[in-house]
Amino acid sequence: MRVAQVDSRAVLIKEDQYLDIEKTSQGRFRSDLGRIYDKWIELRDWAEGLKWSNAVSLGSGVAFSSPAPHPGQVFAIGLNYRDHAHEMGMELPEIPTTFTKFPSCLTGDRAHVKLPSSNVDWEVELVVVMGIKCHEISCDKAWDYVAGLSIGQDLSERVVQVKAGGQFSLGKSFPGFGPIGPCLVTPDELADPNDLALKTKINGEIVQDSRTSQMIFSVAEIISRLSEVVTLNPGDVIFTGTPSGVGMSYNPPRFLSQGDVITSEIEGIGVLTTFCV
Ligand code: ZN
Repeated sequence: MRVAQVDSRAVLIKEDQYLDIEKTSQGRFRSDLGRIYDKWIELRDWAEGLKWSNAVSLGSGVAFSSPAPHPGQVFAIGLNYRDHAHEMGMELPEIPTTFTKFPSCLTGDRAHVKLPSSNVDWEVELVVVMGIKCHEISCDKAWDYVAGLSIGQDLSERVVQVKAGGQFSLGKSFPGFGPIGPCLVTPDELADPNDLALKTKINGEIVQDSRTSQMIFSVAEIISRLSEVVTLNPGDVIFTGTPSGVGMSYNPPRFLSQGDVITSEIEGIGVLTTFCV
């Protein structure tokens, strides 16, 4: 199953068609995807038996806002790919390096993001959205609590990130620094949700190119570790870390400029585009 927010309304997507969830369900589910995660299992059951006779064609001008519109918690994992830890000159972590992106930084596909300085970097990441409340979950059960996967860009102001005494969160939370989209894909749609190609292009040039199987801590391990401490709620977001090829690793460092277009691609999910202004 694929869900998204089109013109700020929750929809189901199949190939190049979509169905408005609130209208099709005659109000059983809300128009706001953020409220639908509370009824995730119910939605999945309902969607399974659905007729697509009233589906609408997805035009090219469709605007996808974030499929995780207002999560209570947004976690992000740093240094979760070996090659990225090396390029940053950091030791491999023994437990997931966890920080938050404040929810006010989240945006959707094709967002125009204002660069607050000339030190803004790109990071493509697999994003997990939780579907069921959980605490103290073992690795082998962790995927059962996931609603789906999306594409995220963990945009980072490197000077603010490093200056803040080891606390990454502010440097990663300027307005628009958390694009997520275009849609959310349930894990059963993917041949192997633990091994997806992910890429970033800047103005068409490939700068990041890896696979999620290269993560140090897998999606299941991240969920299990986070849930040792916090309660994870439906709609919560986890950015799972970025592979090598970020701008800070260049010598001299290469950061984003006005007019740059960032496209991030994850196999089986789609393409997320951000315009730097
Ligand atoms: Zn990151």
